[in-house]
Amino acid sequence: MKASLVRCFSRASKLILVLTLSLAIFAPAELSAQPKPLPSKRNRSTRLVHKSAPARPFSTVVIDAGHGGVDQGGIRQNIVSEKNVALDVAQRLEKFLRKAGLRTVMTRSDDRFVTLDRRVSIANAHHDAIFMSIHFNSARWARARGVETFHFAPSEATLAHRIQRNLVATTTGDDRGVKRARFRVLRQTKIRAVLAECGFLTNPQDAALARNARYRAKIAQQISRAIVEDRNSLR
Ligand SMILES: [Zn+2]
Repeated sequence: MKASLVRCFSRASKLILVLTLSLAIFAPAELSAQPKPLPSKRNRSTRLVHKSAPARPFSTVVIDAGHGGVDQGGIRQNIVSEKNVALDVAQRLEKFLRKAGLRTVMTRSDDRFVTLDRRVSIANAHHDAIFMSIHFNSARWARARGVETFHFAPSEATLAHRIQRNLVATTTGDDRGVKRARFRVLRQTKIRAVLAECGFLTNPQDAALARNARYRAKIAQQISRAIVEDRNSLR
């Protein structure tokens, strides 16, 4: 009787041990972890602290060549590969900005895939800086052509308008204007950020321009001039 009680007890304690262990292993993290305090209002708003403040002088430009690696950019109908021409303009822009005395940081300097989150974190590692993203456009409608510039926060509007004005002076395509957009690289960057679409690679005339090294150099020079003008206006 005694022996069977002991056996019974040891079986029960083994069962409890197994149950406890399996609960610890298979319990979802959010159930086993301590409840996290909700972010304070202050923490939640830090994302836009820099953008919502008036534009400040800067010494660094984070240059973001769109796409790269497996991400070609654009759509199937593209005449020219977006990732290559975006990188070329970004590298030319880097040279112009350095000549003008600005520091530069590239989110990519070769044909590699960089996630949007990584691009944002590179931007957010710099405080005394702006973020300049270079893209070319695509549309199902081959007649769509021209240049457009995007920003998210009001503090980026003047810089976006300067860039758009200079792009329009360079291209023979349409002035599609400055637009607000919630792209991740614009929304989640804490520094002022602007994204330029330098022509439609689905349009024969714009694609011919993009293929032309002189056009790409001119585009880079005009973006650089707009950035330098912006920097000088804030001094
Ligand atoms: Zn793109």
